[in-house]
Amino acid sequence: MAAGSLQHRRDLALGLGAELFYDTPLEIVRGEGVYLYDSDGRRFVDMYNNVPCVGHANPAIVSAMAEQQATINVHSRYLHEGIVTFAERLAGLHHDGIESVVFSCSGTEANEVAIQMARVVTGHRGLVCTDAAYHGNSELVGSLTCVARAPSEIGEIRGFPFPERYRPVVDGPSEEELCQAYLDRVAAAIESLKREGAGFAALIMCPIFANEGLPEIPANFMSRATDLVHREGGLVIADEVQSGYARTGRWWGYQTTGFRPDIIVTGKPMGNGLPLAATAASKDFVDTFRANTDYFNTFSSSPLQAAVGMAVLDEIERLDLLTNAADVGGRLTSELKERVSLHPAIGDVRSYGLFIGVEMIKNNVNREPDAVSANLLSNHLKDRGFLVSYAGKFNNVLKIRPPLVFSQDNADDFLGAFDECMGEMSG
Ligand code: PMP
Repeated sequence: MAAGSLQHRRDLALGLGAELFYDTPLEIVRGEGVYLYDSDGRRFVDMYNNVPCVGHANPAIVSAMAEQQATINVHSRYLHEGIVTFAERLAGLHHDGIESVVFSCSGTEANEVAIQMARVVTGHRGLVCTDAAYHGNSELVGSLTCVARAPSEIGEIRGFPFPERYRPVVDGPSEEELCQAYLDRVAAAIESLKREGAGFAALIMCPIFANEGLPEIPANFMSRATDLVHREGGLVIADEVQSGYARTGRWWGYQTTGFRPDIIVTGKPMGNGLPLAATAASKDFVDTFRANTDYFNTFSSSPLQAAVGMAVLDEIERLDLLTNAADVGGRLTSELKERVSLHPAIGDVRSYGLFIGVEMIKNNVNREPDAVSANLLSNHLKDRGFLVSYAGKFNNVLKIRPPLVFSQDNADDFLGAFDECMGEMSG
């Protein structure tokens, strides 16, 4: 790398290993709506970033931010109408068991609050998550990450294989039997926690298993797992950091996959870029959490967070982004599904609204994951002006998760580029 280049300076200033996307990294200088512009003025369609959900540099958000900052922004130990109204509005978007909110600044913090809440409410410490989960980067929340965990089990955490139909945990059963097989894995994890003394506090899961690779979930798994957890005296934490805020065409992923969580964590898109996250639950649970922790977070529950958070909700409603996510996502998914039979490298296409995963495989016989192709495809698409990435347990699932203002025209343009890239890669 050329000495003095931005990347070289970055390595020195931020340390080696601070991740960058793409073989030739992008230097992004400006954003507008669904578009990003690099330092040469080249325009890219952003099909990756869910944080700027109502669009990069959205004028309504920019002015809400500027106005609030120019009026008052301070920590949370004063009464402020805006904060209370925002908390009321957010709780009101959830099912009727959700009444109160604890604000924070990142998904990690909000999950940490959720775990502490589950522990003080149940009086137990054990946590169950999937074997390919990511819920954040603190020492506690990071220990739920598969890569940070020993393959079997450590202390107060147990993993279970995430529910999926593409590479099922047992071969050949009916969907009902497959669902039961995954439930048995959850039950075994809970039983192990109880047997070894941690007790069982909570099952934490992303409602659409986004980091796991957006699997097709055996029917009724989520609601039956919730029932199981409740029978065992635990709570269900829905990590909606990726699945929430209209992404799936409904407000919440749990509405899409059909279950009723006890604690709900939101983050990324809430502030359209301003750090803002929340843990929502019943008033009883939130009161118990506050009584046991004296929780305070300097930058959260601030007038600025509230003003921006409200403006994001207003924009989602004004632009009818729930409908857009369902319509544009649905049509793009149908188009991509048609490509499965045309390209042996595409094993499967799965989606929820404007969150689409394209499973890249080496062959259709044993469905061996192909992370190299997923990486290559994302680099080729970038060269054609479309920014995506990849995710999943094997890093082989092309991850398409644009700002919610992504349009049908954007989708049509993308499909043209996608076909060219696939042609080039197979040719
Ligand atoms: N939960 C999920 C499902 C996530 O995908 C992420 C981040 N990728 C987090 C939590 C952590 O959020 P943050 O980076 O804001 O701490």
